[in-house]
Parts: sequence; structure tokens; C-alpha cells
Amino acid sequence: MARYTGPVCKLCRREGTKLFLKGDRCTTKCTLDTRHGSTAPGQHGAISKKQKEYGIHLREKQKVRRYYGVLERQFVNYFEKAARSKGMTGENLLVLLERRLDNVVYRMGLATSRKEARQLVLHGHILVNGKKADVTSMLLKAGDEVSVNERFKNSKKFLGTQKVVGEKEHKIPGLLDNFRSAIVPKWLVTDKDKISAKLISLPTRKDIDLDINERLIVEFYSK
Ligand code: SF4
Repeated sequence: MARYTGPVCKLCRREGTKLFLKGDRCTTKCTLDTRHGSTAPGQHGAISKKQKEYGIHLREKQKVRRYYGVLERQFVNYFEKAARSKGMTGENLLVLLERRLDNVVYRMGLATSRKEARQLVLHGHILVNGKKADVTSMLLKAGDEVSVNERFKNSKKFLGTQKVVGEKEHKIPGLLDNFRSAIVPKWLVTDKDKISAKLISLPTRKDIDLDINERLIVEFYSK
């Protein structure tokens, strides 16, 4: 399936907000923190345009789609599923996206971005309830446990490496360091020894700390 492979910082500039698509770099060297990076991409990016109602709704939908790295067709499917479920469609939509396996791997701290989490899943390093799970869109439920396979636990990417600069040795952190220091949402409980996380409940809208106005997305698809 076609997936966006262009420069990801351009997506943040397009949405005018940080989407945190590049892991650690987003907190240390973000181009959006500079004056040049804060304008929309393209020749006319710096010209301020007053957005019409449709544009505002569209941008909010695109922002959420890009946060979670979901293609348009998949996003429409999530919206339709959310609309069929009980409760508020916008909130249901966000909860469905939050329950995706790649998002849970990111939230538990095993990856520094959702993109990296997707790679871990696709490469077969992730287990759900002890069984290999390589489908990034798998929806997890309360009680599911996510862990890492033994082979990956012994890899350099996971454990980190040592680099000699001059006479000093520097540690290049691995994903284990990220996992150990991660602050996880309250619907997840991690086991730092087993290197796993369990969903003790389903996430709710209050648990999703992203700056999203889901009402605008519902209005976008209701036209
Ligand atoms: Fe977005 Fe991260 Fe690039 Fe900043 S560094 S513009 S947050 S992808």
C-alpha cells in the first residue's frame, strides 16, 4: 500500500504544529522551532491565507491522520466504525486510533516515534499475549499484553552501543533506555523487568494528550 515517503518535517510545517514524527530529534533539533520552519511549505507558504471553514476541517483531519500515520482509506474506515459505535463519534475515532498496535508500542516507550514503532511491528519484533504480531493496525483490547521477542532483546538497537570518541567511550542509547525512562499513559502498566506493557483498560478521550478538536473531523465527514 502506498505510504508517504517524503520529508516528514514538511508535514508539520503544513499543519503548523509539531506532529513528533522524528523521535528524539523533535525535542532537540526541530525545524519548526526556527522562523523559517514555522511557515507552510512551498513558494506561497509565507503568505498568510485566511482559511475557509472547509480548510479548517480538512487541516484538522489531516493533522490527526498524520499524527497516527494512517492512510486516507484506513482513516475513513475508522471514522465509519466510530460512527456505528455507541457514544460520540469523534471520541470513538480517537480511541480506535489510540488502540492500534503501533501506537501502543510507541506509548509504552519501546519506540521514539510511531514510525519507528511501525517498523518494529512489521519486522516481527513485537509479541501480543506471547504471540508474534506483525500487523500495525491490530486493535488491542483491555487485558492484552505487548512484549518484545528474545532475539530483539539482545540486539544493539535495543540495548544500545558504545562509541569511542578520542579516548572516551560514549554510550549510544538503545530502545531499552527509552522504555525505562518513558512516562506511560494510565491505561497502560509496564513491567520494566519483563519489558512488557498491559492494557489495564481502554483509553478514553481524557487520556489522549494531543491537541485535537475531533468535532471538526466529524463535521468534515458529515458534509
Ligand atoms: Fe515535526 Fe519532528 Fe520535524 Fe519538528 S523535528 S518538524 S516535530 S517531524
